[in-house]
Amino acid sequence: MFLDIEKIRNDFIIFKNNPNLIYLDNASTTHKPKQVIDKIVEYYENYNSNIHRGIYKIAEKATLEYENVREKVKNYIGSDDLRSIVFTRGTTESINLVAHSFGQQLNFEDEILITEMEHHSNIVPWQLLCKRAGAKLSYIPVKISGELELSNIEELITNKTRLVSITHQSNVFGTINPIKEIVKIAHKKGALVLVDGAQMVPHQKINVQDLGCDYYVFSGHKMLGPTGVGVLYARPEILNCMNPFMGGGEMISSVTMQDSKWNEIPWKFEAGTSNIAQVIGLGSAIEYIENIGFEKIYNYEIELLKYTEKKLNTIDDLTIYGTPQYKGGVVSFNINNIHPHDIAQMMDNLGIAIRAGHHCAQPIMNKLNVTATNRLSLYIYNTKNEIDIFIEGLKNIINLFK
Ligand code: PMP
Repeated sequence: MFLDIEKIRNDFIIFKNNPNLIYLDNASTTHKPKQVIDKIVEYYENYNSNIHRGIYKIAEKATLEYENVREKVKNYIGSDDLRSIVFTRGTTESINLVAHSFGQQLNFEDEILITEMEHHSNIVPWQLLCKRAGAKLSYIPVKISGELELSNIEELITNKTRLVSITHQSNVFGTINPIKEIVKIAHKKGALVLVDGAQMVPHQKINVQDLGCDYYVFSGHKMLGPTGVGVLYARPEILNCMNPFMGGGEMISSVTMQDSKWNEIPWKFEAGTSNIAQVIGLGSAIEYIENIGFEKIYNYEIELLKYTEKKLNTIDDLTIYGTPQYKGGVVSFNINNIHPHDIAQMMDNLGIAIRAGHHCAQPIMNKLNVTATNRLSLYIYNTKNEIDIFIEGLKNIINLFK
């Protein structure tokens, strides 16, 4: 049941090309194994062509490869319907698609409920929509533990709430939110639920049917896949009731001078030439993760997280933000009197990549009363030895500032 880390690291050429790199910024983006890079090259070198159009062999092959990934994504997140999987450019685009298309059904009497721990991509589209529709945007508060304050959730979700949009795993605290419970209450009140799974799907097996959510969104680049590809899962009956997001080729069944008829879902939401190579690369990332297995991935990451937190807790003047009971491999921290950017800069001098900043989550930073934190985030290729080097480096930096 153990991860063969050496074997895994061998698949990531970036570590061969940067032998001293210690990469602890996986919540930002992950590296790509050679299997993913090879698959993208295979497409360009062997069957590069547009999809759904050509009746020649390489176009048919490209279409088949692309549509096979839809099947893989469907299984990866536990959907039972291919029509529920829309390819987008990423989490941000998926949320904007819903805010635009589902948003057309909203008016000034309606409410959207999000949480204080959301990434900007799950805040700003709703602010834009609420301004446009005159609707109200409300927030589920976050406790000092980095967990949602759900004691009055029955009141926060009102009979005017049309959508609850919530992150599955926080990119600041690592908190894993109780989606199933929230979905039950939201549905009882007639609201739909969108789950931002950007930080969840790389690390744990999810099942959209078991969660009961209406929308689930994520990005390929945070799960070993390429940039420029993401997914919107939505229940087909919901997608069928939504107007298109973008107009153009492929999303229509017919066009006249005056009017157009839409293609079937999911293609109704995939206007123009898709990011074909990236989608095909995402399929390879899914295969890579599934070949290792989520149980091994999760157990290893939790072991590494516990190890990291134990070491961090031995350092004086260090504050860890959030102590949620259920969390993934993300730690946000500050050192008294040392600006996080100074720490990240000095870490970089040691070849260690950590993140410093507001992590695109300014509302929660404001609530914590900080402008920035340091953040380290783990993935399958990180090791205890890397954590030891990071901790040693951190201690030396603190000593330099004394
Ligand atoms: N949501 C969360 C929780 C994230 O961590 C991120 C990326 N940091 C996003 C959304 C946005 O993802 P993308 O930039 O790939 O669209």
